[in-house]
Amino acid sequence: MQSRLSKIRDIAGNRLVSLCAGARDIVLPPQCPVTGERVAGHGELSPGAWQNISFIAAPYCKMCGLPFEFASSPDLLCAACAAPESFEHGLISEKGLDKVRASMRYDDVSAELVMSLKYADRHDLAGGFATLMLTAARDMPIRDMVIVPVPLHPGRLRQRKFNQAALLARSLAEKAGSGLAIDLLERHRATPQQQGLSAKARQRNVKSAFRIREKYQSTISSRNYLLVDDVLTTGATLKECARVLKRAGASQVCAVVLARVVKDDVMAI
Ligand SMILES: [Zn+2]
Repeated sequence: MQSRLSKIRDIAGNRLVSLCAGARDIVLPPQCPVTGERVAGHGELSPGAWQNISFIAAPYCKMCGLPFEFASSPDLLCAACAAPESFEHGLISEKGLDKVRASMRYDDVSAELVMSLKYADRHDLAGGFATLMLTAARDMPIRDMVIVPVPLHPGRLRQRKFNQAALLARSLAEKAGSGLAIDLLERHRATPQQQGLSAKARQRNVKSAFRIREKYQSTISSRNYLLVDDVLTTGATLKECARVLKRAGASQVCAVVLARVVKDDVMAI
């Protein structure tokens, strides 16, 4: 049973938290990261921003989540998932990712959201983004999965002070009630920025850049993992992380991101 002293501490702690939140609202009124409009609370988006987000909704490939313009059934696969041997850069493979989901298309609006989280210290957005990611990943058994963020190289982490994928992973694990292994993967090789590189060059760039931390080595076998990142471009990073986990004995490795690049909506096959 909770002691009287700890109850008093809890009440005092809660009051202090709400006082701090009140002071923050006076100094920094809550603002939408997309439109700059005033919103009711920190971490919220304005109605204008909501309207302009391109959410990814069905129909999409049941494995890699690629949205289709038209599909006659919810059980369809994209060409790369249907015939992975013919597609060098498909997302899904037996030795890598099993399933991928994303909340929204990566475009000007979602780029603004990602930039706010990454560079504008809008950590208050992580909770709302995690809720959207959970909705996108609702067909995955998240409660039975260990949530793992894509790591930054220690040098990059020192510059940026935080890892945006870890912020999302923490919020997601809290909301889903799943296990979280925030430091399970480490990026032991610093890689040049992926921006502007072709799919092939991105894959080469991240090859052997990740490894499982020593203390987790013996715990990987037969467990299911959910990799978390902010943006999926070609998927090279997520595929490499999944490959490392599978090689160490992971049963299933899925991934969920806030936004993914979708070049052209395609027909299901
Ligand atoms: Zn697919």
